[in-house]
Amino acid sequence: MRLPEKNGKVDREKAVALLRRGYELGINLFDSAPYYHNGESEVVLGEALVGIRDNVCVSTKCPMEVGPSRWLSMLEQSLRRLRTDHIDFYHCWGIGWDSFAGNVQGEGRFLSEIRKAKEEGTVRHLSFSFHDGAQNLSRIVDAGVFETMLVQYNLLDRSNEQGIAHAHAQGLGVAVMGPVGGGRLGPPAPAIQKLVSSTVKSTAETALRFVFANPNVDVALSGMSAIQQVEENAALASLGAELSEAELGRVNAMAEENKRLADLYCTGCNYCMPCPHGINVPEIFKIYNYHRLYGIEEAARGLYAALAPDGPPWSRSAKADTCQECGECESKCPQHLPIMERLKEAHAVLG
Ligand code: SF4
Ligand code: SF4
Repeated sequence: MRLPEKNGKVDREKAVALLRRGYELGINLFDSAPYYHNGESEVVLGEALVGIRDNVCVSTKCPMEVGPSRWLSMLEQSLRRLRTDHIDFYHCWGIGWDSFAGNVQGEGRFLSEIRKAKEEGTVRHLSFSFHDGAQNLSRIVDAGVFETMLVQYNLLDRSNEQGIAHAHAQGLGVAVMGPVGGGRLGPPAPAIQKLVSSTVKSTAETALRFVFANPNVDVALSGMSAIQQVEENAALASLGAELSEAELGRVNAMAEENKRLADLYCTGCNYCMPCPHGINVPEIFKIYNYHRLYGIEEAARGLYAALAPDGPPWSRSAKADTCQECGECESKCPQHLPIMERLKEAHAVLG
């Protein structure tokens, strides 16, 4: 989803070269989705894999919201675009418990529709990518229908850690998205960097090493836009470079302390939601905490700038300065937080 672009479209020549370089360096799993780069991602990946398709695994996804009448045609479209006769890891895309219960299981739902493709080998492994509260991850794993999963996990967001351990114990393959915090850990974060030895050259490297150090994680899926990133990441993975036990201890202690401080600020419980004016209060406070606690300034401003009332679910919110001060959220907050004041503070810093 982060292929190099030119004039708003995928730069095909560069993208194919980047993917082929990854393959040369030993990367053997490529993840795409029908909507990435407005549909171009699968097409370019298909082009890059000509002649080497059988040596690698391909992962793509099916949006549940298109409904039963289009699930199979979405699969056929992905096969065509990817120039392949099978998908190794086919994901129910971005599901949570409600979507799982409503769309995936039961007669006429996704599993029954996809069964034939699974039997014929068009789909090799059924997977899901997860966007929901961590408490629902193990519920989906325990339904016993998936063989692998793709979940958010990184130094800044460890909420799925227990669910990952559970999935691994149940025999699922675990791929992690956003190991570098969706780019948030790309720029230097002094609060993190001081905890690791000087041989760890960057915050991004610390973040990847942190993920590699978790024995329950099988794959770190990191979006890369430049050959240099591919080469650096592949070199790091080839070294088996994890954080040392002492470094991990310091990073864990910092993460615990920051979680404590973040929870004092806002626990992310969501009780204040929905705001009648479309402000995603917990999301704004979470972004503000990246800035306050980890010193991740540039990326926090970028995330805030990306919030939009009609954006994708993970960045859907009106900006804090559109708060009408109706007070509805404050009356529901179990922490009795002065939400309206804090929204002003957050906007002043991030806006
Ligand atoms: S006070 Fe502001 S944030 Fe809270 S519910 Fe009202 S408009 Fe939304
Ligand atoms: S109710 Fe309070 S603690 Fe919970 S998410 Fe809203 S602001 Fe944060």
